[in-house]
Amino acid sequence: MTKIVIVEDEQGLQTILKYNLEKDGYQTIPVMDGKKALETILKEEPDLILLDWMLPHVSGVEICKTVRQNHDIRHIPVLMLTARGDEADKVSGLSIGADDYMTKPFSVPELMARIKALLRRAPPKPPKKTKIFADLTVDFDKKQVMRGNRMVHIGPTEFRLLQIFLEEPERVFSRLELLKKVWGDAIYVEDRTVDVHVKRLRQALNAGGEYDIIRTVRSSGYALSEMKKK
Ligand code: CA
Repeated sequence: MTKIVIVEDEQGLQTILKYNLEKDGYQTIPVMDGKKALETILKEEPDLILLDWMLPHVSGVEICKTVRQNHDIRHIPVLMLTARGDEADKVSGLSIGADDYMTKPFSVPELMARIKALLRRAPPKPPKKTKIFADLTVDFDKKQVMRGNRMVHIGPTEFRLLQIFLEEPERVFSRLELLKKVWGDAIYVEDRTVDVHVKRLRQALNAGGEYDIIRTVRSSGYALSEMKKK
């Protein structure tokens, strides 16, 4: 479902926007002030942001600039709502990074059309630079793995395995699946090879005496899992 964060401090307008967007089949997340906006956007990673210019605490302009600087959310289209023409001039004139804007009072059907257009031409979501699961932090750019504050040293095959596990934590991947994802179809590799590399990965990840973050499911496969956390 297409998710839209509505950052708007006027309750009446918030309600109108929510009603119309949900009628058109969008999921909406309301935010009433600037401080909470960024936190919500980072957490929800919506498909579009409707952003009011004037907000309590942090202005829409500041939020928009920050969104454009953050790798994980900068691809999200921003439609700015402005109260006056001079604000609209600034949105279009200054490069604050909004994709479109509308001046209040605006026509709801036109807003809906603009939203649709923005969503249609939105860029695809980029892969995340950093992934976090439990006490594990993996930086894909630096190829760096941390377990809590401890640096984990692993080889490229183990890193690739970890990357696959992190795509869907807690899901059990079969040996065959892991084999195909890591080594591809072309090369003949034995199931045992998978076991060997998972064992190496597990030893490296648990070397500081942490709980075993890799779960072995007998005759099924392996998962990255918090189940053994005490
Ligand atoms: Ca406002």
